Amino acid sequence: MAGVGMASEEHPERSEADAFAAACHHARQVAVLASVDALLGWDEQTMMPRDAADYRAEQAAALAAVAHRERTDPRQGDRLARLAAGRLAMAGTPDERATIRLLAKDFARQARLPPRLVAELARTRVEAQQAWAAARATSDWGMLEPWLRKMFDLKREQAACQEPDLDAYDALLDEYEPGGRWRAIAERFAGLRAGLVPLVQACATARRRPDDAVLRRSYPVEPQRRFVTQVAERIGFDFHRGRLDTTAHPFCSTMGPDDCRITTRWDERFLPTALFGVLHEAGHGLYEQGLRREWYGLPPGAAASLGIHESQSRLWENLVGRSRPFWEWCFPLARAAFPAALGDTSAAAVHEALLTVKPSFIRVEADEVTYNLHVMLRFDLERAVIHGDLPIGDLPAAWNDRFEQDFGMRPTCAAEGVLQDIHWSAGLIGYFPTYSLGNMYAAQLMAAAEEQVPGLEAGFAAGAFGDLLGWLRREVHAAGQLLESEPLVAQVTGRPVSAAALLESLRRRYGPVHGL
Ligand code: ZN
Repeated sequence: MAGVGMASEEHPERSEADAFAAACHHARQVAVLASVDALLGWDEQTMMPRDAADYRAEQAAALAAVAHRERTDPRQGDRLARLAAGRLAMAGTPDERATIRLLAKDFARQARLPPRLVAELARTRVEAQQAWAAARATSDWGMLEPWLRKMFDLKREQAACQEPDLDAYDALLDEYEPGGRWRAIAERFAGLRAGLVPLVQACATARRRPDDAVLRRSYPVEPQRRFVTQVAERIGFDFHRGRLDTTAHPFCSTMGPDDCRITTRWDERFLPTALFGVLHEAGHGLYEQGLRREWYGLPPGAAASLGIHESQSRLWENLVGRSRPFWEWCFPLARAAFPAALGDTSAAAVHEALLTVKPSFIRVEADEVTYNLHVMLRFDLERAVIHGDLPIGDLPAAWNDRFEQDFGMRPTCAAEGVLQDIHWSAGLIGYFPTYSLGNMYAAQLMAAAEEQVPGLEAGFAAGAFGDLLGWLRREVHAAGQLLESEPLVAQVTGRPVSAAALLESLRRRYGPVHGL
């Protein structure tokens, strides 16, 4: 690794074009290291034998040290500072301008972190996650509380170092949703919550309610594997540039411009687990496979934000995969794969079963309608803690109070409430809102696609998804990071971002099957 980033240093960079090429080369080398780390992580989750964990931790730590040194190489900092003040940053192509601006921003954020804080965050992340696993297993909040106090303190310090002029929560949010500001998000979420709470109540108490029994019959794993692979292939996931494997916690991970790995888990007693897991992760994968290949490792070839990433997964999972036309195409395929389970039923019955709404304590088991209430609760609580408005010790009660307000039921133990997610102990603060932003962006994008691309639904019914994917590729994927998420969605859809499209979509799809 000693030679990484050195090649261009043997000759002084006389022209601005040379400096730009050298800065890009350096960033691509950092991306190479990150992709090796991703490969180690994928292997750990899918293939690695249990007893290999200790040495894998050494491999990951050694690689992280090299990557951090490379990422904060002062020569790259000098180069980016010169470029940011130069002609290309003002008058270059949009790709060149975005590359300089975003590489310089990322470098500055990294360089402002004191090495002591980086090390302490890394150590605390490992220890706090261990404490979280033990605390959740025994539903013992007291075991996690001191670790969360420490983690929130460190994250506040990180925010102050990285973005001294920004609100602390906005500074943390910026890592996941560049340019996102909590005040604007809170305003949109307030509108969403005001529409969702009555919709959840109406669905939960409706006299007509879908029944998901048909989805809980016997679905053996091997036919499931063939079935979901066919579905992923048909929506456009390229298996020559990707794979599907088995894991405990599904994810999508990219190890290079032609290597995107998705994973799922299998439940023989519940068809949606693997199918919708794969539609979700393949949605992430379609975005990764649709990014501009020639800019791999640089901002024009990178995902705009976690919110935009989630919009792509949610769009395929919920807005395509839970639609009636999709099931007109998909049902015969499903019945051929599971003749015993689906022989006596119909596309309409399976489609209706997929629209079951049932409030539950656990976010990752939530249906599409209640899901965003789980997210908004976390967004409000983590923000209050970062801003010093909510002491850590009051988190469990605050959680339960808010849950009862929104869902009409109260968690009976901490494992059903404040202890259920790994995010805070992993230092992922400012991450939760990107889930609901993704749902809002997805609904708004889908409404625009329906307006702009004729015959979309008829295509779904015939198993043709290329028109939708082509539109997403052109409008969203090709943009990379040239625009931040909200301006991107506003440009593509012709409307400012709001909760209106998501509420409209939920009411339109869930209202009729509940007799509303
Ligand atoms: Zn996702």
